[in-house]
Amino acid sequence: MGTHEHSHDHSGPEPLAARVERMTGLNPAKCYQCGKCSAGCPMAAETTLRPHDVMRLVARNQLERLRDADGMWLCLTCETCTARCPNGCDPARTMDALREIFQGSGEGRAPKPIRAFHKSFLDQVRSHGRLFEFGLILSYKLGGGPLFADVTTSPGVMARGKLGLAPHRVKGLQEIRRIFDACGAQEEGR
Ligand code: SF4
Ligand code: SF4
Repeated sequence: MGTHEHSHDHSGPEPLAARVERMTGLNPAKCYQCGKCSAGCPMAAETTLRPHDVMRLVARNQLERLRDADGMWLCLTCETCTARCPNGCDPARTMDALREIFQGSGEGRAPKPIRAFHKSFLDQVRSHGRLFEFGLILSYKLGGGPLFADVTTSPGVMARGKLGLAPHRVKGLQEIRRIFDACGAQEEGR
């Protein structure tokens, strides 16, 4: 430990760790790979890229490996990893920064099924002001998400009664729709 491994692939003008530090105010190289973050990650079993892997790859400037891994887009931003880190690192925020880098600069996009899932998620929020799970899955399926079978047969989803059958509206729906309209206008203006 203690030696910094610099296997730069020169994908960008600035090392990835420096870019992430600029965005988050935290130096990813500070991570000492104890793995406590990944031990609490609810997605650790589903992904090849657990939070401590992400931290290591950022520190090693492995932009392409991060960009091409679906795991980057499976993170739920639940922040469990960040809460568990004994070292003041913030893997959740680091992943947010990476997704921002990849999408904003055109260096990478979420894989198609994950884009379909995110779109379904946002459509649900726009319509009902909250996540209506059955509608989410239906909309996701219509959007071409091949993970549909995995979602519905997931013992966790069904057994824990996560699939609400009817949408419930929330107060402030008009405000939520205004946020979507404002974001849409911003997107179009780009
Ligand atoms: S818990 Fe913190 S120090 Fe440990 S591996 Fe995760 S980010 Fe690194
Ligand atoms: S924020 Fe992402 S990486 Fe961190 S524990 Fe949650 S799902 Fe895992």
